[in-house]
Amino acid sequence: MGKGSNVQKAQQARERNQKKLGKSDEERKASLQKAKLDASAYMCKICRQTFMVNAKASLLYLHVTSKHDGTAPDACFDSLVGFDPNDPDGEKAAAAAKAAGPPKPKKVAKKKDDDLDALLSAGLGSKKK
Ligand SMILES: [Zn+2]
Repeated sequence: MGKGSNVQKAQQARERNQKKLGKSDEERKASLQKAKLDASAYMCKICRQTFMVNAKASLLYLHVTSKHDGTAPDACFDSLVGFDPNDPDGEKAAAAAKAAGPPKPKKVAKKKDDDLDALLSAGLGSKKK
């Protein structure tokens, strides 16, 4: 008897806690739905195998080469359009963009210096006159 009522009490406590958390049945359904979508965010168009939302492009590419060797990567996954096997996760491209980024502002700064020099010499010149 005692055991049974304990279970009931625990159940009631759990229900109370869930109400405190403020999650309605609809919200729980929605998050479940989202979890389902996340679990099958990527689906191979050929064999319909699914991959988690956080799967890296390199993992998807591995699936292409191991299961469908000779197939274009974007024939399996839309997300692999323009995929570069030598730079699977876009890290090289990101590094290249980072490396190519800084010089531009430097050039602008240098040009300013040049202008300043020109202004200074022009100012000195006019002062002499
Ligand atoms: Zn496949």
